[in-house]
Amino acid sequence: MAAYAGIDLGGTNIKVGLFSQDMAILDQSSCRTEVEKGFHRVIGQMADSVRMLCERSGVALGDVRGVGIGCPGPVDTQAGLVVVAPNFPGWRDLPVRDALRRALGGTPTVLENDANVAAYGEFRAGVGRGYRSLAMITLGTGIGCGIVIDGRIHRGATDTAGELGHVTVHWGGRPCGCGRRGCLEPYASATGTVRRFRDALASGRSSIVTENGLSEEAITAKDIFEAAANGDALAWEIVDETVRYLAIGCDVMVNLVDPDIIVLTGGMIAAGDLLMKPLEKYAREMFFPRPKASTRLALTALGGDAGIIGAGFCAQDSFGTSAS
Ligand SMILES: [Zn+2]
Repeated sequence: MAAYAGIDLGGTNIKVGLFSQDMAILDQSSCRTEVEKGFHRVIGQMADSVRMLCERSGVALGDVRGVGIGCPGPVDTQAGLVVVAPNFPGWRDLPVRDALRRALGGTPTVLENDANVAAYGEFRAGVGRGYRSLAMITLGTGIGCGIVIDGRIHRGATDTAGELGHVTVHWGGRPCGCGRRGCLEPYASATGTVRRFRDALASGRSSIVTENGLSEEAITAKDIFEAAANGDALAWEIVDETVRYLAIGCDVMVNLVDPDIIVLTGGMIAAGDLLMKPLEKYAREMFFPRPKASTRLALTALGGDAGIIGAGFCAQDSFGTSAS
């Protein structure tokens, strides 16, 4: 029986899924990424996870037609390199694809950027099923983005397409993790929202969020969205700004790519309707008439599994055959 494996390599966890020939999930696993033990240890963890899932599912490793890996940071998909990975200290131009292939006895392996893989998973098996094009925006520590156009991942000439988080939305504005100023990320990410809220507290503003005994360090974007819904003036201002900037991000995507659907994922979507209702309003105020009427904004259907599922589909696309 042919099978495929999909790996979501994150700075915190390594998630792996094993899929049947028709991409039904057979089993999945998650383990903490032992990034402090270095590159070869992380490769070994990925290989061990694939072997363990094969054993548990009664699949011979030789029947795994291919493995897909979604890696953070810029990747070189042609050479199979991770160029830089922000949460992996010292990782630079490392041959993740070929090292994993060797560790799995020559099993064909394909490398993609993690945001692209997650978008592709949602496109093939999630809320994007049946559409031709999709953009997925991850609202977490940063802003990730993957784009699928006419059924294919859009990588760009240098594998750096879809850096929506680093589109300048405010000239000379807030500093961004990329070293520049005024990117979308410090305004519309979960971390950026919390940081703007803390800065306002530090400047003397008050809020029910901290009056309820929550320490400033423990504040999450969800706390701020909830306080805004409960009428807290400062939280409402901050949330309103976050959502307006996120609407700008959606408008950029619609004007450049014109996807059928924009999917939101990441920690900040825990806010649910408190995020989606104002976003729908602000974004549709900005969109041109045709996308205003038809472009869908939706929350992820696959959640944290989008990465392994998308990586599995990438493996099937790259190495699958019609024979079983
Ligand atoms: Zn930036």
